[in-house]
Amino acid sequence: MSKTLITGGAGYIGSHTAKTLAVRGRDVVILDNLSYGHRDFLKWGEFEEGDLADTAFLKDVFSRHDIEEVVHFAAFIAVGESVAEPRMYYENNVRNTLNLLGAMQDADVERIVFSSTAAVYGEPQTATLAEDHPLAPLSPYAWSKRMVEQVIRDYGEAYGLKSAILRYFNAAGADPAAEVGERHQPETHLIPLILHTALGIRESIKIFGTDYDTPDGTCLRDYIHVTDLSVAHALALEHLANGGESDIFNLGNGNGFSVREVIDMAREVTGGNIPVETTERRAGDSPALVSSSEKARNILGWQPQHADVRDIIETAWKWHQKDCR
Ligand code: UDP
Repeated sequence: MSKTLITGGAGYIGSHTAKTLAVRGRDVVILDNLSYGHRDFLKWGEFEEGDLADTAFLKDVFSRHDIEEVVHFAAFIAVGESVAEPRMYYENNVRNTLNLLGAMQDADVERIVFSSTAAVYGEPQTATLAEDHPLAPLSPYAWSKRMVEQVIRDYGEAYGLKSAILRYFNAAGADPAAEVGERHQPETHLIPLILHTALGIRESIKIFGTDYDTPDGTCLRDYIHVTDLSVAHALALEHLANGGESDIFNLGNGNGFSVREVIDMAREVTGGNIPVETTERRAGDSPALVSSSEKARNILGWQPQHADVRDIIETAWKWHQKDCR
C-alpha cells in the first residue's frame, strides 16, 4: 500500500495525526529530526530520522518509500523567538519546505496537507474569522506560514500540486487514551502551564493582560481539541485523494473562551488550587481570535467531537498527570 509521509510526526499535532491515520488504516512514515519532537511519541508507522534541510536525505526517503501524499507539520512555532531570530524561521519554515516540495515534485507526489495558522490573519477585523479575512501576519513565524501558503498555491497553478492548507486556532487537549499529548520545551501555552500549576510544578499562572475589551478583560481564544484537528487532516487527505479541489480551511470550534474561563474550568477539572498572578499584556496578543470553520464542516464533513472546553482540559489533565509524574 502506498504511504502517507508526516513531517514533524514526533511533535504535538503530528503525533496525534499519526495515530488518527494509523487507526484509519493508513501506512504512515514519520520524518522528524527530533529537535523538538519526542522519540516516545513515535508509536505509529515507520520512522525516518533526519532534517528537511538535507536534500539528499529527502531524496532517499522518497526513493525508499512508496509515498503518495504528505502532511507537513515540521516547523519552528515560537512567535517571540521568530521576532528575535527571523533567519532561523525563514530558513527552517520556508527554505526547508521548498526542499520538501522539490523532493515531492521529483518523486511525482502530488498531494499535500499543510499545517498553517490563524496567525496569518493578524488583527481581527471581524468578530469571527473566515478564510477570506484579510491576511496581515504580525511576526516572522506567521509570515513564514503565509509565504509557504503562497508557494503551495503557486505550485498548484503551475505544476498541479493538490493542497489543503489548514489554519489552526488554539490546538489543545490530548489523546483521550493519553498515548501522546502536549509537551513543549520550553512550555509557553496556556493550558499546559495552568495544569503544571495545578500539579505544583509552577507556583502560579500569569494572566497576560486584564484590560482587554472583552467580557472579563482577558483574551478570548478558540480552543480546538488536537484529536479533532488530527481528524481534519485525515479528511483533507481523503478530500484530495478523491479529486477534491485545493483549498484553505480554518479549524476551530467557533467559540471564544477567556483566559479566566479556562483557569476556572481547570480548577473544576483538577479540583486543585491554581494561584493566579495578573501581569502586563504580552506583546503581539490579539484580544480575540475566534474562527468560523463552516467551510471545513461543509466541504470536508468535519465534525469536532471534543468541542467542549471541559473535555479539552480533561484530556490534557489526564495526559499531564501521566507525563509529569
Ligand atoms: N496566556 C496567559 N498566560 C500564559 C500563557 C498564555 O495569559 O502564561 C494567554 C495569552 O495571552 C493568550 C491565551 O492565553 O491570550 C492563549 O495563549 P497561548 O500562548 O496558549 O496561545 P496563542 O493564542 O498565543 O497561540
